Amino acid sequence: MNKDIVKSFSGSNVTLVAVSKTRSAEEILVLYNLGQRDFGENRVQELMAKKEELPKDIRWHMIGHLQNNKVKYIAPFIHLIHSVDSLDLYQTIYKEAQKAGRTIDVLLQFHIAEEETKFGMDYKEAEETISAYLENKEKAVRITGIMAMATLTGDESRIRKEFGTLKQYFDQLKEKYFKDKTSFREISMGMSSDYKIAVEEGSTMVRIGSLLFQ
Ligand SMILES: *Cc1c(COP(=O)(O)O)cnc(C)c1O
Repeated sequence: MNKDIVKSFSGSNVTLVAVSKTRSAEEILVLYNLGQRDFGENRVQELMAKKEELPKDIRWHMIGHLQNNKVKYIAPFIHLIHSVDSLDLYQTIYKEAQKAGRTIDVLLQFHIAEEETKFGMDYKEAEETISAYLENKEKAVRITGIMAMATLTGDESRIRKEFGTLKQYFDQLKEKYFKDKTSFREISMGMSSDYKIAVEEGSTMVRIGSLLFQ
């Protein structure tokens, strides 16, 4: 367990989301006892099981691709959904948030990597989703920023360029749609292998798994 990473982010402007997928409740508790409260999961079923077992003040983040029919399970409690990758999923989250009687914070996930396998929107799809969002009268969902994964590569300049692109998207959207909205402030980028580059490029939220739990 890499406790120094938890310590290095406490008191920093960058939020550390400890990615706890595949890790046991005991492993999660070690980090919890160091003061870590933000944990990220990528499967709804696993998230639900852990939530039952673990302290109630944990802030759970959904970071993986989310199916429409699973949204209802997490809507009552999820702290932040990082992976809104379609207008359709946005609409489903909106409906489920209304049913749950709460406002759900979400990030729009962009596709910036070379790999086809990664989920996410392009700039136009993000704008379409934001248009729908701005038309919604009830504030059942709040878009608080954007998220993406860089290409898995040893080519640091490529990773830096991709994170730079995401930062640029954030700045453009902020200027055009969220100018006076302080709630639009998160850029979720950076994982074990590339979080240092991400922070240098303006990340406000890193999602670190393997490096933390090794
Ligand atoms: C697994 C995962 C991470 C963490 O990856 P590590 O390389 O283990 O740090 C971050 N973001 C997403 C979306 C993930 O699925």
